[in-house]
Amino acid sequence: MGWYLAARGAEVLKRLGARDVVSFASGKPPTNLVAGASRFGSDPQTTVLDADCRAHDVENLYVTDGSFMPDAGNAPVTWTIYANAFQAADRIIDRLGGPRGSAG
Ligand SMILES: Cc1cc2nc3c(=O)[nH]c(=O)nc-3n(C[C@H](O)[C@H](O)[C@H](O)COP(=O)(O)OP(=O)(O)OC[C@H]3O[C@@H](n4cnc5c(N)ncnc54)[C@H](O)[C@@H]3O)c2cc1C
Repeated sequence: MGWYLAARGAEVLKRLGARDVVSFASGKPPTNLVAGASRFGSDPQTTVLDADCRAHDVENLYVTDGSFMPDAGNAPVTWTIYANAFQAADRIIDRLGGPRGSAG
């Protein structure tokens, strides 16, 4: 999709009279969507957190920033971070036997 859009953009610029137009698209994740520092998963050998974002090795540690995702891909991730943090909070409440809020 990135390459397609870059090529269409270059076409538009050329039709407008621009010269020496260079277009580019990267398939790599953008540097503003950092992820993967403490990936979640079921294998403690290859992941830091379990599926609830609780550390495999530290019983009372949950990590709910963007680092749980192996890779942010190329899409904005902030809403995913929020949703995951709410889910992890529900797991903590369940674990402690506390009541859920009205939104839960
Ligand atoms: C320029 C730019 C534009 C972006 N645009 C979008 C967008 O349009 N949509 C979107 O969804 N996402 C966007 N993002 C990505 C989004 O901002 C991040 O994915 C998100 O903020 C990551 O959340 P986080 O909680 O993992 O980390 P952060 O938001 O980076 O939070 C980490 C926090 O930890 C604090 N901290 C660091 N070290 C320590 C320490 N030793 N002790 C205590 N505190 C510490 C930092 O001060 C910071 O407050 C953008 C990012 C950038 C840089």
